[in-house]
Amino acid sequence: MTSFYTGAEGCPYPNPSTSVQVRNPSGGVGGLVLLQDTQLIETLAHFNRERIPERVVHAKAAGAYGEFECTHDCTDITSASFLNTIGKKSDVLLRISTVGPERGSADTTRDVHGWGMKIYTDEGNQDFVCNNIPVFFVRDPIKFPSLNRSHKRHPQTNLADSDMFWDFHLGNPEGIHALMHLFNDRGTPASLRNINAYSGHTYKFTKEDGSFKYIKLHLKAQDGVKNFTAATATKVAGENPDFLTQDLFEAIEQGNFPKWDVFVQVMDPKEAETYKWNIFDMTKVWPHKDFPLRQIGRLTMNRNPQNYFTDIEQAAFSPSTMVPGIAPSADPILQARMFAYPDAARYRLGVNYQQLPTNRSKAPVYTPYQRDGFMNFTDNYGADPNYVNSSLKPTTFKAAGKINSTITEHEKWVGEVSSFTSEITPVDFEQATALWNVLGTQEGHQDRFINNLAGHLSGAKSAQIRSRVYEYFSYVDKDLGARLREVTEAKVAA
Ligand code: NDP
Repeated sequence: MTSFYTGAEGCPYPNPSTSVQVRNPSGGVGGLVLLQDTQLIETLAHFNRERIPERVVHAKAAGAYGEFECTHDCTDITSASFLNTIGKKSDVLLRISTVGPERGSADTTRDVHGWGMKIYTDEGNQDFVCNNIPVFFVRDPIKFPSLNRSHKRHPQTNLADSDMFWDFHLGNPEGIHALMHLFNDRGTPASLRNINAYSGHTYKFTKEDGSFKYIKLHLKAQDGVKNFTAATATKVAGENPDFLTQDLFEAIEQGNFPKWDVFVQVMDPKEAETYKWNIFDMTKVWPHKDFPLRQIGRLTMNRNPQNYFTDIEQAAFSPSTMVPGIAPSADPILQARMFAYPDAARYRLGVNYQQLPTNRSKAPVYTPYQRDGFMNFTDNYGADPNYVNSSLKPTTFKAAGKINSTITEHEKWVGEVSSFTSEITPVDFEQATALWNVLGTQEGHQDRFINNLAGHLSGAKSAQIRSRVYEYFSYVDKDLGARLREVTEAKVAA
């Protein structure tokens, strides 16, 4: 970088704060600006183009860099290189966001918190796109846009709309378990350093011999989970809408590095065939007592971005970005996200978004059949063949087994496991009830849950919708439904 001021083409200019004007000969302030003032025109034109499209979901975020360290031997379950040696460290980029609200919204708005994590491994990038809740609201990806619109703004009023929100969930009741997570205290974290994160999805850990295990990923804050009450979250939103962003930045700046222990739950494919829940259904967890957590690593965030736009806004994460040793499962939401996330990045950042510094692999990249495109700033593979199977310059490949396993043929498909329905049954309420019982073990938490929910639901103008919501939650727990009715209707009447 030069130390003196220039225009974008490198030509020096004398003064960035004065436009070139034809002055009024009689003196004083005011004059006609000239079309030949390139500096002025570039300054105004570039300003008009400073914003790139906001993410349609996960727009408001904070982020940082850090490292992932493998802490336990995992070689019996995966051949992933970054997990093959205890003590091995890989650089990480982490972006933590809310989901529904816009970029300028308050951090402490009640919402699921997204967790985009890119591990720059020596065999390419490994992205995990987690949430701070372990389940999701729908299990069929075609409902994803509808779900998110119902959580955003009404098409006429442009306001958040409780009737619309609850109308969606009543019509798509498989989200009950996720709603139990959203409206408990974890819906309003007190710090991004004190949230847990979960893959939600089932992934596969694969080995070079072609064998695999199903896994779910868990990251647990070493300092524990800390939440605001709804009242504090609302107050903080008014006083400092960027509270959580500031807290993360300042903690890292002060050397108070947040740390998470990283675990997997591991399931043998044979167990999946007979397990009581469909393991590809993202509305369900695997209970700890059936599948205990097994530690694989530790995450430490220790470096703030140098520039928010370059490092965090231009970051693109996708569950399709996987290293050898990790592979997708037949979870339909995962399969759809593997398309949707890169598609969103291509729209937002352009077709060569993987070349941006924050997204670029630290392992060597050779992808000569992906060429050209807007804003290509590599050497574009020079004279190398741009077509496959060339005899002039044959392509070389890594040894079988060290190739991204999404393209191996080792999976035997089992009908019962992959059969899938969006229909809701009483089974869908079992884990929601289990969480209600967990809240019952925490002082005052069930009361706060009812208050949080009633605060939102009392905004619904339709008495019929409110009434159906009471009935819906009474399937989780009869008493919950009755108490919710009482507290909500009191708020409506007030
Ligand atoms: P356990 O009965 O073995 O343990 C309860 C779990 O509840 C804890 O491990 C903790 O997860 C989680 N938890 C505690 N407080 C809250 C809260 N306010 N909001 C959300 N989760 C909380 O768990 P089970 O595996 O038998 O599952 C019981 C219920 O716990 C599930 O229905 C699910 O809703 C919830 N849960 C389960 C998880 C799983 O993967 N099995 C993960 C997270 C929640 P943690 O230690 O991760 O904070």
